[in-house]
Amino acid sequence: MNLFRPRFNDGDVLDIDGLRVRLKVNRRARRVSLRIDAARGEAVAVAPSQRRLPEAAGFARERSGWALERLAAGPRSRPFAPDGKAPLRGRLVRLIATGNASAARIVEELDGPVILSGGEGEAFARRVENLLRREALRDLSERTAHHARTLGLRTPRVGLGDPRSRWGSCTPGRHSIRYSWRLILAPPHVLDYVAAHEVAHLVHADHSPSFWSVVKTLVGARLEGRAWLKAHGSELHAIGR
Ligand SMILES: [Zn+2]
Repeated sequence: MNLFRPRFNDGDVLDIDGLRVRLKVNRRARRVSLRIDAARGEAVAVAPSQRRLPEAAGFARERSGWALERLAAGPRSRPFAPDGKAPLRGRLVRLIATGNASAARIVEELDGPVILSGGEGEAFARRVENLLRREALRDLSERTAHHARTLGLRTPRVGLGDPRSRWGSCTPGRHSIRYSWRLILAPPHVLDYVAAHEVAHLVHADHSPSFWSVVKTLVGARLEGRAWLKAHGSELHAIGR
């Protein structure tokens, strides 16, 4: 008989003010944290060791309001959280909490890139989104300038937004293009297709055959980006919400 059986075990599920909280030991974690498992409709309280599970449960209690709000956002919502994953240029990368207040950054590891970020809860998610927006602006500016150069146009002004219904919008009169930052989540050929599409609108404001022939001079016959967005676009909108 073990008189020192701990109160909390790895895998235990608690009910905290109506929030389902699963306890998890992750030896790679440096501190306790709380993440959302939207698919299972529960929060996961992570501790670096079994000894620290009570601390993780306490942390879940403190953050239960935040977690319930996140879960209410819907079963398809995939907020950025420590120990979770997010797609970056079409590849799933791990999100790792540094436990300090640092900005998010990408680090290349042997098995691919990972995103390290400081902050807790919403602050962590915000830092990850800011990083993805910076990366999106860099890739989209580069591809936009490239396509404009190909057509002998001066480089348009590039801005980012988070519209629900479109991936890019072009205002030829202002020589400017706005893109959804979420394109950085998609494979690079998809982002490139949208940049080519919007740059082609600087020449033709419509979707006429002449417009499509300009798009084809920019991306060749590679129009799979269009089909990819039709098939997966709504998934990109569930990420980080
Ligand atoms: Zn268009």
